[in-house]
Amino acid sequence: MSSLQVCAACGDKLHELDPRARCDCGGLLEVRHDPPPVTGAALRERFDARMGSLDPLDRSGVWRFRELVLPSAADQVVSHPEGNTPLLARAPIADWTGIAGLRLKHEGHNPTGSFKDRGMTVGVTQARRIGSRAVACASTGNTAAALAAYGAQAGLPVLVFVPTGQVALGKLAQSLAYGAKTLLVRGDFDACLRLVQQVADELGVYLLNSINPFRVEGQKTIVLELLQQCGWRVPDWIAFPAGNLGNTAAFGKALAEARVLGLIDRLPRLAAIQAAGAAPFALGFQEGFARRHRVTAETVATAIKIGDPASWDRAVRSIRETNGVVATVTDAEILEAKAIVDAAGVGCEPASAASVAGVKALRARGIIAPEADVVAVLTGHVLKDPGALLSYHRETEPAPAHANRPIEIEPTVAAVAAVFGRS
Ligand SMILES: *Cc1c(COP(=O)(O)O)cnc(C)c1O
Ligand SMILES: [Zn+2]
Repeated sequence: MSSLQVCAACGDKLHELDPRARCDCGGLLEVRHDPPPVTGAALRERFDARMGSLDPLDRSGVWRFRELVLPSAADQVVSHPEGNTPLLARAPIADWTGIAGLRLKHEGHNPTGSFKDRGMTVGVTQARRIGSRAVACASTGNTAAALAAYGAQAGLPVLVFVPTGQVALGKLAQSLAYGAKTLLVRGDFDACLRLVQQVADELGVYLLNSINPFRVEGQKTIVLELLQQCGWRVPDWIAFPAGNLGNTAAFGKALAEARVLGLIDRLPRLAAIQAAGAAPFALGFQEGFARRHRVTAETVATAIKIGDPASWDRAVRSIRETNGVVATVTDAEILEAKAIVDAAGVGCEPASAASVAGVKALRARGIIAPEADVVAVLTGHVLKDPGALLSYHRETEPAPAHANRPIEIEPTVAAVAAVFGRS
C-alpha cells in the first residue's frame, strides 16, 4: 500500500515522499492512501486485535491504525509509543455541564502531555523518510515540545519558533529539555508562523506546522481511537478546542474516511470551541463561512491564542460535512471549567477546558440535548501551564469561585489544627 499528496486547491498530485510544504499553487496538501485490503467489520476487527498485540507498532495508539495513517512507513517509524489515552466518565464534570453522558478523551496522557505527539510521530517519521537535515515549526508551545522530543528521538536537529513571553512555562521547559534550538520571536504566534514558512523555504528545513499533511494523518487517530473505545458506537457530539484548526481538519477527515470504509455508519456532530478573544472561525461560522476572518488574538488559553488559523479551508469542510457548530467561551468560563476538571482529579491545561466550557454553553443554548452522548477532548496536561494555575488559585481580588489558596504556617501542630478546624 502507498499514499499520495493531493493539492486541495488545484488537484495536482505529488509523490508521497515529495518534501514541499505546500503545492506550488499555494494550496494545502492532503494525504490520500490506497484503500486498505479489508473494510467494515473486518477492518474494525483488525484494529481491535492489535490492542492485545505486543508488536511496538500495534501498541501505539497512532500506528495501530496505520492503514489510515501512513501504510508504507512501517519499518521507519519514530514512535514513543503515543496515544492510548483514556476515555473518562467523571460525574462532577458531567453534572457541571448538564450532560450526564459526557466523557472526556484525555490527550494530556500522551508522552509529552498533549495530542501534538500523535501528529509528530507521523511528521517526524516522514522527515526521516525523505532524508531532511533538520525540522522546524512555529508553535504556541505544545507543537514545539512534541517536535523537540520526536526530533531528538530521530536524531534530527530541531528549530522551534515561539512568541516570546506568551508560552506556558511547562511547554517552554520541555523544548529546552529535549534539546531543541528554541527561538523566542518578538511577535505573536501568527508572526512566528509567517517567519518559519520563509525560513523553511530558504534554508531547506522540513516544516512540521499543522499545515503539514502528515501531522493531520496522525491527529486523525484521536477520533479513530475514541470510536474504538466506544466499541465503534458513534457519539452524538465530539467537542474540542479550536485554534489553528488542525484538529478540526483532522477530525473531519477521519470521520469521512471512517464512514467510507464502513468503520462507522453515521457521523457525530463536531463542536469546535474557540476562546471569545481568539474566535475568527466562530465569526466565519456565524456568516456561513462566507469569508475568511483574521483577528488579533487575546486569551488566557495560550494554546488556542491564534488569530489567523492555517487550516481554515479544511476546517470549514469538516464543520459542513458533520453538520457541526463553532461556538465561543469567555476566559472566565474556560477558567471555571478548568477548575472543575482539575478538582475532579482529572486536570488539564486552560485551552483543553474550553471544550468542557463549550459543552456547557451549547447545552444551555439548547443545541446539545441533555441526553446526548458527548465526548469532549482534553487536549493537554494540567502541568503544561503552572503559571495560569497558580495565578488562579492565588488570586485574591476577588478570589475566583473555585480557588484553593495555599496556606503558609508555622511548623506547629497548633497551626495545623487551626487551619484544619477552619475547613
Ligand atoms: C494545539 C493545541 C490546541 C489547538 O489545536 P488546533 O489543532 O491548532 O486547533 C488546543 N489545545 C492544546 C492543548 C493544544 O496544544
Ligand atoms: Zn495546487
